[in-house]
Amino acid sequence: MSNPQLTQKLEQTIQNIPDFPKPGIQFKDITPIFLDPQLYEEVIADMANFSRGKIDVVCGIESRGYLFGIAIAVALQVPFILIRKKGKLPPPFVAQEYDLEYGSAEIEMRTGQLKPGQRVLIHDDLLATGGTTEAAAKLVEKQGGEVAQFSFLIGLKDLHGTDRLQQFNAEIHQVLEY
Ligand code: AMP
Repeated sequence: MSNPQLTQKLEQTIQNIPDFPKPGIQFKDITPIFLDPQLYEEVIADMANFSRGKIDVVCGIESRGYLFGIAIAVALQVPFILIRKKGKLPPPFVAQEYDLEYGSAEIEMRTGQLKPGQRVLIHDDLLATGGTTEAAAKLVEKQGGEVAQFSFLIGLKDLHGTDRLQQFNAEIHQVLEY
């Protein structure tokens, strides 16, 4: 777990927006973190410490997974690969479909950026049901990458996203849990 001082600062900074974008959803607005460069730096240090020496590449999930993911990669001096939503990447790319509450979605990654055998950190801002992250992990495995770690700024305990990620046998870090 992260240090209690950082956790407390983040709890005071992240805003809870009830019933957004749908009734019943408590939206976590992380944008105030970016108004406080020192706090942002502390978050990156915490995330980088978790992954130091254990990964060869960071894969970040569009779009809020880029906000911390690139900084983690730079801090650790490893490459960063974008996982994008369908239709944004030019070919060639690899795709993975996953189920949504209603219908399905797809995420994609440029072919050839991830090398077989590389140890991967999959990063996103928030772990809810784990559906998006599970698809990202399958995308990594499809290309011969080893899913070594998952990291999130926030994990929503009640949605049991971590249960869904157990199949990958990877370490999981959540800076803050609600
Ligand atoms: P899931 O696939 O259910 O784990 O959803 C994770 C994605 O949805 C993340 O990329 C989050 O940015 C976004 N998300 C889900 N629930 C919330 C929430 N309560 N507040 C903010 N973002 C959310």
